[in-house]
Amino acid sequence: MYTVEKYFWWNEAQKKLADDVAEFSDTFIASTIEDIEKTKRFPWEYMDEMGKRGWFGVLIPKEYGGMGNEYGITGMCIVLEEIARGAAIAVDFYETTVYGYSPIIRFGTEEQKKKWLPGLATGEHFACIAITEPFMGSDAANIQTTAELDGDEYVINGKKRFITVGGVGDLYCVYCQTSNTPEDRKSHRHLSAILVEKGTPGFSVEVIHDPMGRFGSRHAALNFENVRVPKENIILSEGDGWNILTDALNIERLGVAAGAIGVARSSLDATAEYVTRRVAFRQTLAEIPGVQNMGSDMVTGSSLMSLMTYYAAHQLDQEEDVSIEANVAKIYATDNLTKITLDAIQCHGGDGYMRDYPVERHFRDSKLIEIGAGANEILKHLVWKQWLKKYQTLRKSLRKETVKKSTISGSEAKKAVLETLAEFYKVHPGLYTECDEILEKLEINLEDLNECLLALEEDKHVALYRKRGKITLAKATYDGLRLAKPQEYYLKFPDFVVKEKEIF
Ligand SMILES: Cc1cc2nc3c(=O)[nH]c(=O)nc-3n(C[C@H](O)[C@H](O)[C@H](O)COP(=O)(O)OP(=O)(O)OC[C@H]3O[C@@H](n4cnc5c(N)ncnc54)[C@H](O)[C@@H]3O)c2cc1C
Repeated sequence: MYTVEKYFWWNEAQKKLADDVAEFSDTFIASTIEDIEKTKRFPWEYMDEMGKRGWFGVLIPKEYGGMGNEYGITGMCIVLEEIARGAAIAVDFYETTVYGYSPIIRFGTEEQKKKWLPGLATGEHFACIAITEPFMGSDAANIQTTAELDGDEYVINGKKRFITVGGVGDLYCVYCQTSNTPEDRKSHRHLSAILVEKGTPGFSVEVIHDPMGRFGSRHAALNFENVRVPKENIILSEGDGWNILTDALNIERLGVAAGAIGVARSSLDATAEYVTRRVAFRQTLAEIPGVQNMGSDMVTGSSLMSLMTYYAAHQLDQEEDVSIEANVAKIYATDNLTKITLDAIQCHGGDGYMRDYPVERHFRDSKLIEIGAGANEILKHLVWKQWLKKYQTLRKSLRKETVKKSTISGSEAKKAVLETLAEFYKVHPGLYTECDEILEKLEINLEDLNECLLALEEDKHVALYRKRGKITLAKATYDGLRLAKPQEYYLKFPDFVVKEKEIF
């Protein structure tokens, strides 16, 4: 039963796509998933059917055989949400192809587009993304697979693992190290994205993994031994790999969040079906407050997941920067999905633990996405870093311009700086003062301020905090505070204090 949410900002084509994919999910996927779960066979029929309907081409322009520009990232999310509602494994094949080709669309040459996009648009070929390696996962900048230019060819050596659709896939977007100089590493110019076709000599499947969920899906470890590919297979230029990877990850994270909404809805639907039919204590489970609380949390979580994801997808379709929003949507959606699927099992009682109901599959299928596409712990760290940078840039832009030439120097400057620190201490006695705040207040430039702070530090009148060797924060020591202002300056008593009795 589909209860698809269509947002008012979706165009007619996107709304129709939602209905079409929902219908496919409710009929085709629903009728085959049990057999795939049992046999773990690769579901070629999903690929064939989705290919026939053209959905793999959701981001591909019409001239390369795709669906054109009407659908965008929102369209991609719609397909992912609806097929995930039927079976999370359908997401794996679809998303890896779409994310795998997204660098070609966004950065590829005309020749690359003409060569590969038409086959990918129809599902005749699948694309894979190969980042992760045996000795490197979250630390993606530390890729060890190398690609060296030899005449007109790149020679690739190394291993990748956990690659979705590995073995079945036809085109692999392989992230390789093309430089190891400290300068390139520091500026993230040491990586490149290179396309490798199945069947290239030296390129082989080493392992097919046996995962906890998403039965029927394929994940492989791949081996590259002197794999030679034409130099034209590089996307953009040598050193652009990191930018391509992070760009593709925004799309991937929104897609993962969209898939999570589908599974959450499916868990919710299954729970509604169950709790309205199971009777205990002379009422249905749906009438019992503890069950209602779980149901309510599931509805709240899945609604917010959906809003966040489609809002960010819409922003990305407007070409806005969604690096924070995509990460937030991925974290929230996948964290919540784990909770929702566990609550769904709980609401089913013992039946929830059995394979007779879909909720145990939903839980097994869901855990992966808290880890894949960037483990949530990494993304949380990233979100805070990205947000803080944005906040600090905004704060800086609102600051008064600092002076180029100082009007104070020597002991006068030291006195002024110390007094500023004392004033700041009076308001925020537990905090350091930012150097930018001092610069804003005093007629002194950065170079002279640093000199003055170093001198005060030597006198033990200030303590400094340095970030990567640069002085960023300062505070007056107790000696410094004493020197800056008389003790009366620091006194502060609320009105309710009876001075005569309480203060000495
Ligand atoms: C089923 C499946 C399919 C996949 N498909 C693909 C694919 O198609 N292509 C591809 O390239 N990769 C794929 N991956 C790999 C996936 O992206 C990685 O598993 C993921 O990035 C985590 O890397 P790792 O497994 O090496 O874990 P590690 O990097 O070893 O991390 C292990 C755990 O440690 C914690 N952790 C690590 N570093 C930090 C940190 N700095 N701060 C806080 N916590 C930290 C996290 O909790 C993390 O989960 C797939 C993985 C799976 C399981």
